Amino acid sequence: MSKVIVITGASSGIGEATAKLLASQGNKVVIAARRENHLTKMVEEIKAEGGKAAYKVTDVTKREQVESLVNFVIETYGQIDVWMNNAGIMPSSNFVDYNYEEWEAMIDINIKGVMYGIGAALPKMRERKTGHFINISSIAGHHVWPGGGIYSGTKFAVRAMSEGLRQEEALAGSNIRVTIVSPGAIETELVETISDPKAKAGMQALYDAVQIPASRVADTIAFAINSPEDTCLNEIIIRPTIQL
Ligand code: NDP
Repeated sequence: MSKVIVITGASSGIGEATAKLLASQGNKVVIAARRENHLTKMVEEIKAEGGKAAYKVTDVTKREQVESLVNFVIETYGQIDVWMNNAGIMPSSNFVDYNYEEWEAMIDINIKGVMYGIGAALPKMRERKTGHFINISSIAGHHVWPGGGIYSGTKFAVRAMSEGLRQEEALAGSNIRVTIVSPGAIETELVETISDPKAKAGMQALYDAVQIPASRVADTIAFAINSPEDTCLNEIIIRPTIQL
């Protein structure tokens, strides 16, 4: 069945791969991020393949922009079936480095962006008593490593928000599904968001050794979306087979 699927942080990596796969399966996708040139190119590519797609430039740290995205989706496609909170950055560094500016930006994107996405899309789903949130956490939402404390904090928070939402919606009988996806090392632009040279080199070495393509995560998300509506895949951890 064709669904209307909204993806934040869709201009590269996991969001891009997922948007392209879901469009190829006959869904209508709305892609959102800050880099308009990437979004326009993607929409052209999806349409050239016969798919349906639209984009809206959106900074998920701005609540009014996330709310405008919801209005755009309703005006364009009439409903929201799936909302994927995917936008995220990973500027890892040690606490003694005091990189407050980028840590605060990370908290705004990785936590507040998800909060705004849920807050904006939930009323539209509740009106129809159906919907599905896909919230991207990380294996860093399960484990912590030196230099990754704040990133992990944001990804633990994504899991906590998701589980709270899932329980509230189950209690309300609103038939709204919540799926947490926690990937391991996936080949995307994420490592580029690390400014600390030592932390970046260490992370890049790990990724070079084990990473798998973003299409693997896209396949998994499509499986969760396409599962029967009375069944919710609550939480998925997906990592390279050779990653610890
Ligand atoms: P990318 O860097 O390739 O993608 C991140 C996306 O987020 C980009 O499209 C970027 O687009 C967007 N973004 C960043 N800031 C904002 C913002 N303020 N508003 C809207 N969009 C924003 O990395 P990934 O695909 O890897 O990341 C996607 C998600 O997957 C993230 O939440 C990440 O934490 C998570 N993840 C990734 C893993 C990996 O190994 N790659 C492992 C575990 C989790 P733009 O700059 O155009 O706004």
